[in-house]
Amino acid sequence: MNDLDLAALRKTDVLAIETLRTRLNDGLILPDDPRYDASRRVWNGMVDKKPAMIARCGKTSDVMEAIKLATSLNVVTSIRAGGHNIAGCSVCDDGLVIDLSHMKRIEIDATRRAARAEAGLTLGEFDRATQAQGFATTMGVNSDTGIAGLTLGGGFGKLARRFGLTCDNLIAADVVTADGQLRRASPHDDADLFWAIRGGGGNFGVVTSFEYRLHPVGPTVLAGSLAYDFSQAREAMRFYSGFSRSAPDELSLDAALATDPAGERWFRVSACYVGPVEKAERALEPLRKFGPPRFDAIAPIPYLQVQSANDSTFPAGRRYYWKAQFLRGLTDGAIDTLLAEYVKAPAASSLLVLQHVGGAVARVSNSATAYANRDALYDCFPISIWNDPGEDERHIEWARRTWSAMRPFSTGGVYVNNLGDEGDERIVAAYGENYPRLLTLKRKYDPTNLFRSNQNITRSVPPNRR
Ligand SMILES: Cc1cc2nc3c(=O)[nH]c(=O)nc-3n(C[C@H](O)[C@H](O)[C@H](O)COP(=O)(O)OP(=O)(O)OC[C@H]3O[C@@H](n4cnc5c(N)ncnc54)[C@H](O)[C@@H]3O)c2cc1C
Repeated sequence: MNDLDLAALRKTDVLAIETLRTRLNDGLILPDDPRYDASRRVWNGMVDKKPAMIARCGKTSDVMEAIKLATSLNVVTSIRAGGHNIAGCSVCDDGLVIDLSHMKRIEIDATRRAARAEAGLTLGEFDRATQAQGFATTMGVNSDTGIAGLTLGGGFGKLARRFGLTCDNLIAADVVTADGQLRRASPHDDADLFWAIRGGGGNFGVVTSFEYRLHPVGPTVLAGSLAYDFSQAREAMRFYSGFSRSAPDELSLDAALATDPAGERWFRVSACYVGPVEKAERALEPLRKFGPPRFDAIAPIPYLQVQSANDSTFPAGRRYYWKAQFLRGLTDGAIDTLLAEYVKAPAASSLLVLQHVGGAVARVSNSATAYANRDALYDCFPISIWNDPGEDERHIEWARRTWSAMRPFSTGGVYVNNLGDEGDERIVAAYGENYPRLLTLKRKYDPTNLFRSNQNITRSVPPNRR
């Protein structure tokens, strides 16, 4: 696959580009376009890739044409939806970006409890539309994240323990594969493709719309944060370990070591109970009494407020680095390690996050979807956030060191949506026993590896490295 040198194109290729330009109604953006710089930027300010072309698609037929062009030019192609991927896979150097971020139609069928949503929607847009009719399905914790990348990698969030991963709530999807064909992927149509896109990321084609199962949720839920002084953190984390392990499915308990702007460190728990407030009060009582915490802001609040509570922590454009791994539990050794590493964090903005999974996620078999790692109870990751490129090394180094220190407590698995540029072995770790089937299906649906600007499933890996 080539880098695209626009100046050296054949006449037929120039014609094909012009045809796409006309079809996209001014949506084809080249480097001399005043919109180019804003259009190539993604959420992570570390990413500075310079594509040869950005094809801003408005409908499925635009995507089909863009794929035809990519194939005829034999050029690196990336797929962009919300642009939130930590590794910046949605943009590529010197290639074609298929940009879906303007495809935002959503239809809700309240009778069937289903939503058909185009791939350019963000979580915030999806949540607002579905909550307007009293529904929700599992989505992540930051409003600006794209539903597309999140769903295709799995999809955790406050509802996952109750209703399963986002991909577990997928009924069907429209996918344009590398041959330019539009396919319906569902349990009844192209079932292999449907299996692969529920966790396999952007390896198998461009999904233009998703159909999700919806659940009655909210509008109010009992949710919010409580925080313990750092001096209480060890005991609080031990309590959290047992409490989160035995929590009912309705209760999600993400946690973090964090520092406030005054420099004070905390252990914070962010709770959300999906169900009646009276039941929620009872379920949360032991946690709220333990310690007690120095700060307790748990209250009945709109579900939409829960879903956007982290937005100010992760604004677009700052520099971000994280390195994730799954844990099955939080032993005393793991707690001591997290505390010891957190005191070495380079900035007040540095976080050590435990995202709570398990519950309904763990009751689906590992082979039912491409998403593996269903036995994990927490996704554990140090997060570095900073602005100055001159500080890259120390922020990245802290996250890597913390990850290594936590390695003995890890399942060895990793969430594909939290992978940076970490190499083939880590991609295999994201899929475990599902990797060989994914490899076979990648060869079936994308034999030339057109879609490779992603956590790429292409290499045969010896069994002992799976
Ligand atoms: C602040 C923040 C919070 C997050 N919180 C959560 C969370 O709570 N839960 C969770 O599960 N994840 C979370 N994530 C991770 C998130 O799921 C991934 O970053 C995901 O890739 C974002 O999707 P996107 O559409 O914004 O990605 P993009 O960057 O646009 O795309 C990423 C990749 O996804 C693939 N892709 C995207 N759209 C399509 C498509 N339509 N068809 C085919 N392939 C496609 C492509 O391979 C692309 O390279 C979070 C990320 C951030 C930055």
